[in-house]
Amino acid sequence: MSYTMRVLEKVIKQNPNEPEFHQALTEVLTSLQPYVDAHPEYEKAGILERLCEPERIVMFRVPWIDDSGKVQVNKGYRVQYSSAIGPYKGGIRFHPSVCLSIIKFLGFEQILKNSLTGLPIGAGKGGSDFDPKGKSEREVMAFCQSFMTELYRHIGPDTDVPAGDIGVGAREIGYMYGQYKRLTNTFTGVLTGKGLTYGGSLTRKEATGYGLVYLIEEMLRQHGNSFEDKTVAISGAGNVAIYAAEKVKQLGGKVVTMSDSDGFVYDPEGIDLDAVKEIKEINRGRISEYTKYRSSAVYTPGRGVWNIKCDVALPCATQNELNAEDAKTLVKNGCIAVGEGANMPSTLEATEVFLQNKVLFVPGKAANAGGVAVSALEMSQNSMRLAWSFDEVDRKLKDIMVNIYNNISNVAKEVGQEDNFVVGANIAGFKKVADAMMAHGIV
Ligand code: NDP
Repeated sequence: MSYTMRVLEKVIKQNPNEPEFHQALTEVLTSLQPYVDAHPEYEKAGILERLCEPERIVMFRVPWIDDSGKVQVNKGYRVQYSSAIGPYKGGIRFHPSVCLSIIKFLGFEQILKNSLTGLPIGAGKGGSDFDPKGKSEREVMAFCQSFMTELYRHIGPDTDVPAGDIGVGAREIGYMYGQYKRLTNTFTGVLTGKGLTYGGSLTRKEATGYGLVYLIEEMLRQHGNSFEDKTVAISGAGNVAIYAAEKVKQLGGKVVTMSDSDGFVYDPEGIDLDAVKEIKEINRGRISEYTKYRSSAVYTPGRGVWNIKCDVALPCATQNELNAEDAKTLVKNGCIAVGEGANMPSTLEATEVFLQNKVLFVPGKAANAGGVAVSALEMSQNSMRLAWSFDEVDRKLKDIMVNIYNNISNVAKEVGQEDNFVVGANIAGFKKVADAMMAHGIV
């Protein structure tokens, strides 16, 4: 058995009951196999064993008091996965499904994603099984303060710089930042996604969605195509989905769907983003309310968003939201390109369906890297105590996304798998981290 497959088998055995982590490992190691096996120096240095094992995992209790005066306890996590090429960097997720397996899969993916940005950032991920949905402002603040009261001793502007993710937006970052500042008596760029009045970067809010569309646009362009007049299906209705939809619209495409965990809306006339922003960003409501704004829209409870006919699909909600059946339906309906705004939204089997049917498929670690890239630009601005304009950050974001596309596309060609961006992204991301690890010795 090859070195890569031996490591995969061993790591899965050492970490039982972590299906999402196993899935991410399987996807990455399987596609790295020919490349890694052709470089025996990696085996000699134990690169894969070290890459798969987080440098540090912190798990902690998060006690807080709800509005009825009852004590609540949630689980808190921070996985500091790899500092080979920079300080740990990656989001914090607040969602009831959060567990070690999910945080580890996200942290592992983050190693390669952060490497692909070309910026000096290592990888981490954190979160809690706390659900901000339905909680009062005071409860959310109490939770965030308690979460940071433990986390603050493990992070720092040159050590680990967390950001937002599912359930963690500007409000939660603000409360966590306030508590960090109070506990440490410092004002530093320790979190990204901050508000503009206290060190945040313009374009950060839009970065993941815009970045996704910039990369897919470049891919379409190099295949003689564009977003102009394309019908686009998007899942989710959060930060990534909303700004992906906004950029698609600016580039002449028509977004016809958005969803949340209750169901999806289909609006054949094109989604009205002002309505979605009002429902989601201002009222923190449900996507079902969209039909009150537009008579052309139909709401369907449950999953099913991928049954809608589209040219381009952008899954922007969560992991494993698109399975093999969905992928077959998309192929049957003539979908030509899929860009993952979410992390690992396609199952391994769905990815296989796309690759076999020559759908242009870009995995999340490349396609959604714009968020962390602009977070790294926020860190640069904080260090310099400067603030760049929206256009300046947006230009840098676009350059980064075009470079990522060229990088993954060239690497795929080099290994004889043209347009296999899964292989391209995994090898391109891995190379830089592995070479840095080789330079550092056995640490
Ligand atoms: P938000 O919390 O802003 O939005 C998440 C959206 O996905 C909501 O519409 C939510 O619906 C839906 N969703 C979440 N969980 C589920 C589920 N189990 N089933 C169905 N729908 C679900 O998060 P983001 O937009 O920030 O993140 C979306 C994805 O993008 C995640 O995979 C995240 O890791 C990834 N990502 C985010 C980045 C960022 O900068 N924010 C950067 C890179 C990747 P509901 O409200 O009903 O829960």
